[in-house]
Amino acid sequence: MVRISVIRGDGIGPKIVDATLKVLEEVSDLYNLGLEFIDAPAGDNTLREFGEALPRSSLEKIASSDACLKGPVGETAKDVIVYLRQYLDLYANIRPFKTFRGIKSYRRNIDFVIVRENTEDLYRGVEDVGPDHAVSLLIITRKRTERIAKTAFDLASRRRKKVTIIHKGNVLRSYLFFRDVALEVGRRYSDVNVEDMYVDNAAYQLIVNPERFDIILTPNMFGDILSDEAAGLIGSIGLTCSANISERYGLFEPVHGSAPDINPEYANPLGQLLTASMMLEWLSYKKEETEFMEASIQIREAVEAILENGSTLTPDLGGRARTDDVINKIIEYIRKKFI
Ligand code: ATP
Repeated sequence: MVRISVIRGDGIGPKIVDATLKVLEEVSDLYNLGLEFIDAPAGDNTLREFGEALPRSSLEKIASSDACLKGPVGETAKDVIVYLRQYLDLYANIRPFKTFRGIKSYRRNIDFVIVRENTEDLYRGVEDVGPDHAVSLLIITRKRTERIAKTAFDLASRRRKKVTIIHKGNVLRSYLFFRDVALEVGRRYSDVNVEDMYVDNAAYQLIVNPERFDIILTPNMFGDILSDEAAGLIGSIGLTCSANISERYGLFEPVHGSAPDINPEYANPLGQLLTASMMLEWLSYKKEETEFMEASIQIREAVEAILENGSTLTPDLGGRARTDDVINKIIEYIRKKFI
């Protein structure tokens, strides 16, 4: 059995997570994956019901599972995801951005991955705020920069072999340190091209020439900001997925939030579903079992086919379909392909 803890979250979360679980149950049967799902409540609804956004019992279920599939969480995101990243030392935040045929995007051939350090920088949260001052410490350490740089260069080796290190070393020496340590790691990868770029220029290049990027390696805060810009580039934040990983554990979540402003029945489930596909890919490496990779690819292909076909799209993509319509189409496609 492969134990997957599940945080259904808030807003559209329960709807798109349940929809995704339907697809996962289907591929688990077809590919004999032995997936078992364990409900681990967390978020605003959980806070209201149990008095805690991340109860101890949920934390234990998550920590003892093989991986976690997380839906979006509302106002308590900091108590849930920021805490889990630190608690499980999920130091690498991997966010792929790729254009889909059939979906309107700013450019056609966008295909890059943001590799964001997940545990330090200004988001470490070492702060002091008084009536007349506010101070936040920008912390960058060699050990944590080396391990995220290694993740980025390893990934680049399996892709188009280019890493762009993002920093703001012309103003802050801490970011110059980040760049220099990352460059040192990069010297071990003779087949990977490396460049470095100020974050303001990166924000500009993402708009005017996004095709130039393969792997974007960035400290925590810049990665947070550039990710939303990147999501805008590919057409809808509802199509974006991400992984938070360490050597031993992976937590997978869409980039988007709980979307409290829309009717959950019409939420786009595809970002959450691509997140599940990413989880299966990671499990295939971890368990060295190819069935997980096959199931992952099958889900991704189903998503691409539904988007290219264009007849069953949710309102964020210009269609009128419900979440359930999209998921039924996906399951139909996967069943047909399997036979
Ligand atoms: P939160 O406050 O939890 O971060 P949010 O809705 O304020 O959530 P985002 O999730 O980043 O922030 O959403 C930005 C916009 O995109 C919102 O208008 C939201 O309704 C829409 N959106 C986000 N995800 C989806 C989705 N899966 N399907 C449809 N629309 C979405």
